[in-house]
Amino acid sequence: MRYRQGPPQMGPPRPPRKCFYCFEIDHLFLFCPKKTEDEKKGLILVDKFMVRFANGEPIPIEHNMSIKDCIRKHFPLSIAVMI
Ligand SMILES: [Zn+2]
Repeated sequence: MRYRQGPPQMGPPRPPRKCFYCFEIDHLFLFCPKKTEDEKKGLILVDKFMVRFANGEPIPIEHNMSIKDCIRKHFPLSIAVMI
């Protein structure tokens, strides 16, 4: 049972806790299945909250783009794998 306490305009709206790897909201970065998939494919290296390309290059993060999309946009050709 949930009851609203006070008017809804009180307080800032809570931002959705979305995954910053793929921008989906049903999980967080640490548990991202897309991240695990890309890691298994050998596209990326993951160290806790840090993600790099498999060759060690940093991933350029663009505004309003998920890491997953940035990876696909900026993937270095030196890593010869199929995305
Ligand atoms: Zn995710």
